[in-house]
Amino acid sequence: MKSDILVCSAWRDEHERPRYTLAETCPACGAEAVNSAPAPFSPEDNYGKYRRALKRRRRD
Ligand SMILES: [Zn+2]
Repeated sequence: MKSDILVCSAWRDEHERPRYTLAETCPACGAEAVNSAPAPFSPEDNYGKYRRALKRRRRD
């Protein structure tokens, strides 16, 4: 499930705390806004890992 809420990609440098927005760029500093879901826990990443594991097994 993809969230509509984006977070400023530069908030660690530009802001004291995560700056959330629904726009494509941060309204405060103009940096790119990125999906707020943590990447390591995204389903896409898990499936990618699974696919890579299968591919490796087939080659051996
Ligand atoms: Zn910002």
